[in-house]
Amino acid sequence: MRVRRSAYSKKEKKKLKKRKYKKSLADNRRFVSHPLFGEIPMIEKTTIGFNGKKNKTWGYDPDYKPKLPKNAVAGNIREQMFCHMCHTPKYFYVDIERECVQCNQLFVFSAKEQKYWYETLKFNFHSSAIRCVSCRRKQRSDKSANG
Ligand SMILES: [Zn+2]
Repeated sequence: MRVRRSAYSKKEKKKLKKRKYKKSLADNRRFVSHPLFGEIPMIEKTTIGFNGKKNKTWGYDPDYKPKLPKNAVAGNIREQMFCHMCHTPKYFYVDIERECVQCNQLFVFSAKEQKYWYETLKFNFHSSAIRCVSCRRKQRSDKSANG
């Protein structure tokens, strides 16, 4: 009669393996705290440099889905052009109230508009609306009148 060497059954072993995996994942996890998006999970990425050396970097998890505040529009960070060093991806957009640099009127840079700017037009995060809609329209028509 063979004696079972392991104290664990197959099922238990599987469970243990799973737990181990989970733990190692947790050990490798990093988060970045953001006032709007909460704890953003970071994922480790390996890039290969010019010299063929492997570099490990951390990138924002594109599948992270923070809870959307009321009236927010979900962002798709895969469509956004931004520098990981200077900016945080826009996981969602909320209306932003601004003062127009031209007429000093308050205007709303809406969540929908922001999504259009950063995901459809692929504007860099450095660009942002600084003029109200009517001043923008005026500026555009002035430009076309001049050129
Ligand atoms: Zn204005």
